[in-house]
Amino acid sequence: MKPVFNRILLKLSGQALAENGQFGINSESLISISKEIKEVTELGCQTAIVIGGGNIFRGITRDDRVIDEITGDYMGMLATVINGLALQSCLEKMNAITRVQSSFEMRQFCEPYIRRRAIRHLEKGRIVIFVGGTGNPYFTTDTSAALKAIEIGAEVILKATKVDGVYTDDPLKNKKAKRYEFLTYKEVLNNDLKVMDNTAITLCMNNHLPVIVFNLFRKGNLKQIVCGKGLKTVIADKNSTIFKREVS
Ligand code: UDP
Repeated sequence: MKPVFNRILLKLSGQALAENGQFGINSESLISISKEIKEVTELGCQTAIVIGGGNIFRGITRDDRVIDEITGDYMGMLATVINGLALQSCLEKMNAITRVQSSFEMRQFCEPYIRRRAIRHLEKGRIVIFVGGTGNPYFTTDTSAALKAIEIGAEVILKATKVDGVYTDDPLKNKKAKRYEFLTYKEVLNNDLKVMDNTAITLCMNNHLPVIVFNLFRKGNLKQIVCGKGLKTVIADKNSTIFKREVS
């Protein structure tokens, strides 16, 4: 199988590292995700990752009697660093070469985010894990994924979820829910489809950056998606090449 992308940005939510809806980091989840990622890099696809922190701390879940909103967001951003280091460690135990870059300085633990250096790492086949979100409160790691993908020239954002794409309703609750094959950014925004937050989708739209929503928990699926196969929802401009490729 040959990858159809040269450089991807994989967005992982923190929850992907946890056991089914629970908090913290689950070893088995970490191992299976790392295997998927390593497989893709072995195909020669340059892989950058933005990881969330929701499995440890989410700003919005704070108890604001004790933790104020902005501090909650700082804590959420710190949570992404913990996840990034866990992912790095697991990938390196599988002999993958990785670098973690943080939006804010954590120089004892990882590199600071430097765009040119990140690109160089990718060109050398290293997996780059971006942590720390945007470095600003009031944002999400989805927005960070959009920003980083644009900055490093990724061809696509692969948004990992538990289901095969975007549906008309929650497919885990409603068996009649239908999956969208393609959506434009405007359709996502206008129908409030909650794929990513509006800031992230708007950034993608303004920069013509396609997003593929797919199921990371299907074994081998990341490889399928990177090779242009597998079930998914594509979000793109109507006239984008990826859009055309799928329709034809
Ligand atoms: N966060 C933030 N600024 C950012 C990214 C994240 O303040 O640029 C905080 C925010 O509190 C968020 C938490 O970090 O709830 C964890 O990120 P997110 O919810 O995006 O993680 P995910 O849902 O992907 O695990």
